[in-house]
Amino acid sequence: VVSHERQTNIMDDIAAPATLNTCLYCKRAGRPSSGNEHIFPESLGNQELTLPKGTVCDTCNNGILAWLDNALVNFEPIIFMRTLFAIPSKAGKVPTASFADMKMVRKAGNRVSLHLQGRGKGFRPRPAGFRLGFHGHRYTLKRRRALIRSFYKIGLGLIHYDHGAKTSMSTMFDSVRSIILGTQIDFSGFLAFSREVKPELRCYAQYKFVPTTRGVMTPFEVTIFGVHFLFDLQQHGLDNPEILRDHGFIVLNSES
Ligand SMILES: [Zn+2]
Repeated sequence: VVSHERQTNIMDDIAAPATLNTCLYCKRAGRPSSGNEHIFPESLGNQELTLPKGTVCDTCNNGILAWLDNALVNFEPIIFMRTLFAIPSKAGKVPTASFADMKMVRKAGNRVSLHLQGRGKGFRPRPAGFRLGFHGHRYTLKRRRALIRSFYKIGLGLIHYDHGAKTSMSTMFDSVRSIILGTQIDFSGFLAFSREVKPELRCYAQYKFVPTTRGVMTPFEVTIFGVHFLFDLQQHGLDNPEILRDHGFIVLNSES
């Protein structure tokens, strides 16, 4: 379900001190690390893309990172697609997606049952895909921040997977580390996601390191079952979200 080609580029030359059993997220050394960290949550069907034992400590993996994964897999656009594709949760349960206008229940076999109510009765799936009717303003500040952080977690995991500790442990990513862990609560950042969805049974990501006059940007595009997500790992706020909105994206901000 999850695919990712290792990327290499200029950032491989950024040096960080050699690390051994130092946690990618809290940078603490010598903590127990008994399992593989899943870069994309297991509840998205990810068995393939993991970080080896010793990369992430148990405290982070079973604590804050599990909490962020949970926020992500229960995000409405994602739970909608998980239901559509019958992707079971970690506990093996296929989700039911419940919305104000619609309820979606996975049936035995390859079937989904839609129950429309209220405005949802106008819902018409189109052959090429469909349009998500979610509204960003319904999300509280706390929830928006948790969702953005859950994507930062994936982003830093992928950078480690591609480039190893010498890049991922760079001080350049220390600020995003403290945001992921929740020790830095206030930050500038955004998460945009596409309204237009062409369902596909896979998750993948791409990103670039872009040198700018004000430091490096790391824009990511993560696609989860056909929903496109955009964010920047350097926690840049978005000056002109209307451009993304004009292109059919919903933009969530980390600020009130
Ligand atoms: Zn840790």
